[in-house]
Amino acid sequence: MSMPTSASAAASTFAAGSSPSDDHIMLELNIANQPFTLTNWYKKMNWISTIALIFPPVFGIYGFFTTPIDSRTFLWSVIWYFCTGLGITAGYHRLWAHRSYSASWPLRLALMLCGTGAVEGSIRWWSAGHRSHHRWTDTEKDPYSIRKGFFHSHIGWMMFKSDPKKKGRTNISDLNQDPIVVFQHKHYLPLMIFMSVVFPTLVSGLGWGDYRGGYFYAGLLRLVFVHHATFCVNSLAHWIGDQPFDDRHSPRDHVLTAFITMGEGYHNFHHEFPADYRNAIKWYQYDPTKWLIRVCHFVGLAFGLKQFPENEIQKGVVQQKQKMLDRCRARIDWGIPLDQLPVMEFDDFNEMAEQQNLILIGGVIHDVTNFIGVHPGGKALMKSGIGKDMTAAFNGGVYDHSNAAHNLLSQMRVGVVRGGMEVEIWKRAQREDKNVDLVRDTNGVPIIRANAHATKIPSPGTLAPAS
Ligand SMILES: [Zn+2]
Ligand SMILES: [Zn+2]
Repeated sequence: MSMPTSASAAASTFAAGSSPSDDHIMLELNIANQPFTLTNWYKKMNWISTIALIFPPVFGIYGFFTTPIDSRTFLWSVIWYFCTGLGITAGYHRLWAHRSYSASWPLRLALMLCGTGAVEGSIRWWSAGHRSHHRWTDTEKDPYSIRKGFFHSHIGWMMFKSDPKKKGRTNISDLNQDPIVVFQHKHYLPLMIFMSVVFPTLVSGLGWGDYRGGYFYAGLLRLVFVHHATFCVNSLAHWIGDQPFDDRHSPRDHVLTAFITMGEGYHNFHHEFPADYRNAIKWYQYDPTKWLIRVCHFVGLAFGLKQFPENEIQKGVVQQKQKMLDRCRARIDWGIPLDQLPVMEFDDFNEMAEQQNLILIGGVIHDVTNFIGVHPGGKALMKSGIGKDMTAAFNGGVYDHSNAAHNLLSQMRVGVVRGGMEVEIWKRAQREDKNVDLVRDTNGVPIIRANAHATKIPSPGTLAPAS
């Protein structure tokens, strides 16, 4: 969310050196790219925005200590806080910047007037910056990129000049079709002064005679709260919370940010589905901006509310969960993948087993040297299997081992036997169930589903039928 900036300084060029014949033309470093010094710091400041940010809190605090609070003025300040905040969230943001719904002219007029009272620049200027923020999130062209730090994304980007060459440009020609937007842009300054200070002062002054309280509380201090509440969308909502829809960029969902920003805190959802008129999709989540739009829709002031299909939203949720799962999977040692194990003949296995503690299960050779002593079934049982094909015994012939046992077994793999009977069974299992060891996650790690190990025989037929 944003505030007005002064006109950007155009980059200028000059001939390097004193000689006019010198053909080495260098670009002068834009003031935004020059380091801070004692002599240039004031040139780097965006003074209009800085004053608009500093004046209200300084004078507001003075007013707080010198003006008694009238309960009616306090209530009016809270009401005007919500009106001007919603003017930004429901008007500037969701209606004009994102066109997530349409509004009849009385609603557009009301949102424009309220939003103007939040002193965050004209709708055209604000929407251009916000569309850039969405288009170039977290990059150099993002006007309030969190990658440049919390302070920059909160207010720093307004206080200091930025390099115009790094500005991400967007199209806002659609906004020129709205006469209310054009009117506001043309007459922004008087409208802004009236809606931010004069109007709230007049309401409490003419209403109950509290001009001074209206000026300080409903005017200045209310403005400070609206400013920093909405600025939190650019800073806090890119700083704390979860990323249930996509984590490639910084936007996050957090209930605290939602409470501060009138529902704009479900920012991960918003960046993923910016054309949706909602930020919170669950009924119990705090999104008063969405509730206002719904009420306006109910009474016929708003229409064409855009909403992403639930099926599409769930796709993103599942994909993000899968991504997180893949990360967990990548941290786990699943044993040497079958396709990386040396392939040997059955006779070679027999020969090697005379020297080493090798057991064949499911066509896969396992070195059980370190496990003989700890096998729950006892040492003798393990030793009796050395050099043998224990597929049937492992899969129910002696004991139908657990999924965990197959997982553990995979850590002991040292080779596979070519064309072994169990390997053929494994191949058949793959044909019947395409998921078996054929699927790899996004990190290239084979996915072994529970009870789908190469060493697991789908339907052990070795048990003697009950008689
Ligand atoms: Zn954002
Ligand atoms: Zn947005």
